[in-house]
Amino acid sequence: MILAVSSLKPPHPCYRGRFAPSPTGPLHAGSLASALGSWLDARANQGTWLVRIEDLDAPRCIAGMDQHILAQLQACGLTWDEEVIWQSQQLTAYQNAIETLYSDRQVYPCACSRQQISSVLSSQGLLRARNQEQVYPGTCRNGHVWQAQLPNSDSPSAWRLALKPDQWIRFSDAELGPQEQNLNADVGDFVLRRADGIFAYQLAVVVDDARQGITHIVRGADLLSNTARQIYLQGVLGYATPQYRHLPLVLDPHGEKLSKQTHATQIDTASDAAVLQALQTAALHLGLRNLSDGQDQTIAEWLLQATHAWADKTKQISRTQN
Ligand code: GLU
Repeated sequence: MILAVSSLKPPHPCYRGRFAPSPTGPLHAGSLASALGSWLDARANQGTWLVRIEDLDAPRCIAGMDQHILAQLQACGLTWDEEVIWQSQQLTAYQNAIETLYSDRQVYPCACSRQQISSVLSSQGLLRARNQEQVYPGTCRNGHVWQAQLPNSDSPSAWRLALKPDQWIRFSDAELGPQEQNLNADVGDFVLRRADGIFAYQLAVVVDDARQGITHIVRGADLLSNTARQIYLQGVLGYATPQYRHLPLVLDPHGEKLSKQTHATQIDTASDAAVLQALQTAALHLGLRNLSDGQDQTIAEWLLQATHAWADKTKQISRTQN
């Protein structure tokens, strides 16, 4: 099949995208849709696409799942352009970032348990509904004596970022349009290193996106609420902020997000026909209609057709947003 290259955007001078799965379960219809959206966006921009394994939270990771996810991506033809990196091998970079913030007096140790945080908030009449994130009331920040201890792995406390006052973070999401969040009111000083010594997702993701020169982040809308924190952290660490695009979530029949926790079924990669079926479902979910069903195509041909469809769709979105 021949497709006109003209519908692709000219090569983006520095487009670098990524897919960053946590090896806590196999790819399911939801994570495949995110991977496909991110891959298509990179290919439509003639950019570079990376895969990073986010395996810091060791207790939640499943042995061998990293290789399984990589094999699933490969079976789907979602190939990457540079060596895969594992976050568990980048600990020095996260430590350096937290020490930089410490020397700037922007992080402090916190020994509060969840329960202590809840009781302070309830005494202030600020307790939130179950499942809603509690805004840290700043208890340890107020009592902290600087120079008391360095944020190293021996310290038994969590380390929190001391937010500057009045932090309204505003950004334009390429899919969802203008977004804003008041970090002080909605989140509070958030954790960069947990009390068990594990570096928090917010820190690691920001450090790695910067080190890998990521310019475009395309991921599921479940991560939208983290974005303001990440933009703030990029600012205090002196990193550039990438362009964000948050994709619609795949929901189960009960309206819940498909997730590893709810044991979503893994995608079927047993045959090319099954892969094409999974890709087709993911593409429909991403709003790519009128694609051929792949019956008479190879996976590579189908992906090329989807790349052109993605380029056309994103052109339309940016026209309506401008
Ligand atoms: N590791 C995260 C996850 O699997 C994704 C992080 C990101 O894309 O920023 O949900």
